[in-house]
Amino acid sequence: MPEKYFIQTFGCQQNVADSERIESYYASRGLVRADALEDADVLILNTCVIRDRAEEKVYGMIRSLRSRLGARSPRIVVTGCLIGAAVRSPGGTMMKRLTSRLPDVEFLPLEEVGFEYAPKRAPGKMASIVISNGCNNYCAFCIVPFSRGKERSRPFEEVVLEAEQAAAAGYTEAVLLGQNVNSYGADFLAEKIKEGEAYALPDGKKVKPVMVRHLNRYRIPTLFPHLLERVAQIPGLTKVSFISSNPWDFSEELIEVIARYENIDRTIHLPIQAGSDAVLKRMNRWYTRAEYLALIEKIRARVPGVAFTTDIIVGFPGETLEQFGETIALAREVDFEKAFIAWYSPRPGTAATRGMEDDVPIQEKKRRFAELDAVTFKGKK
Ligand code: SF4
Repeated sequence: MPEKYFIQTFGCQQNVADSERIESYYASRGLVRADALEDADVLILNTCVIRDRAEEKVYGMIRSLRSRLGARSPRIVVTGCLIGAAVRSPGGTMMKRLTSRLPDVEFLPLEEVGFEYAPKRAPGKMASIVISNGCNNYCAFCIVPFSRGKERSRPFEEVVLEAEQAAAAGYTEAVLLGQNVNSYGADFLAEKIKEGEAYALPDGKKVKPVMVRHLNRYRIPTLFPHLLERVAQIPGLTKVSFISSNPWDFSEELIEVIARYENIDRTIHLPIQAGSDAVLKRMNRWYTRAEYLALIEKIRARVPGVAFTTDIIVGFPGETLEQFGETIALAREVDFEKAFIAWYSPRPGTAATRGMEDDVPIQEKKRRFAELDAVTFKGKK
């Protein structure tokens, strides 16, 4: 009898997509999927660390499972962002703590589950396709550059092939995933970029590297529109969307591609995080409130019927009532279709944790959350 695995996924859509590859990884080793956790020989916990207490949650879950199932407990494998953060923690401190608290648990760094493992998707309409992993942006509140490491883009043709295969298998919607899809390809041919050479797309088109002001270096920020266009042309895909897309490198070219292809989703996720320039600066976000609003207007003018969703953090260190008021005013002005709101929680290793005081009391964070939620809520949760 082959061993059975069960995957429990926490967190975002990218984790869900990673779990689809983790399935393939275990299937390639001869295991089969268990219908329920209780039937599994191996339980894989694909973790999230975007908010605090993630680590405690994993310990708690393992403890309660073992006390509930006793000798019938499956072998446990922990993977995902918690392991990514532990592997990259300075001096291995987090890994040492994890190992001592979970001595009889296996750790699976996601790097071991490469893209050669084709995702085992659940039947349905939508196929998530990871186009890049990791992030180089170091927003002051965010642990992702530590948990997922430096941004790495998948080869253009490999992504297109996966989208074509998904369409051929009957999926009609493709969601292109990356921490910042707009910087897709920025890591390609770094040496050539220094030499000022162009990047050749598979169809022979050349893309020139451009100077990115806030990075003060050349890179190719324009590959994503080409990739999006190529995927939108795949027969059978009636809806193509992408997430996440940062405001600072949302290019004119990208707007043009969205305008040109009706099957590209008209709901765009554009994280603002805060409506105050002072808070945005402390967050290390490279745009101002005015630039964000101008971008929204530009997209609206070019793409009729477009709607926006966003991410907002309330109670970031030093956020005054007046600065929070600017976020409320911006949310009213943009009229987001949906806002994913979080109250700030310090994450290990981030700039905000190292250099800023978490000075907004939790009750006040919750109050600001409720006030913003009331402004943005449209009855669609
Ligand atoms: S919030 Fe900033 S640091 Fe975190 S994944 Fe997004 S762009 Fe990267």
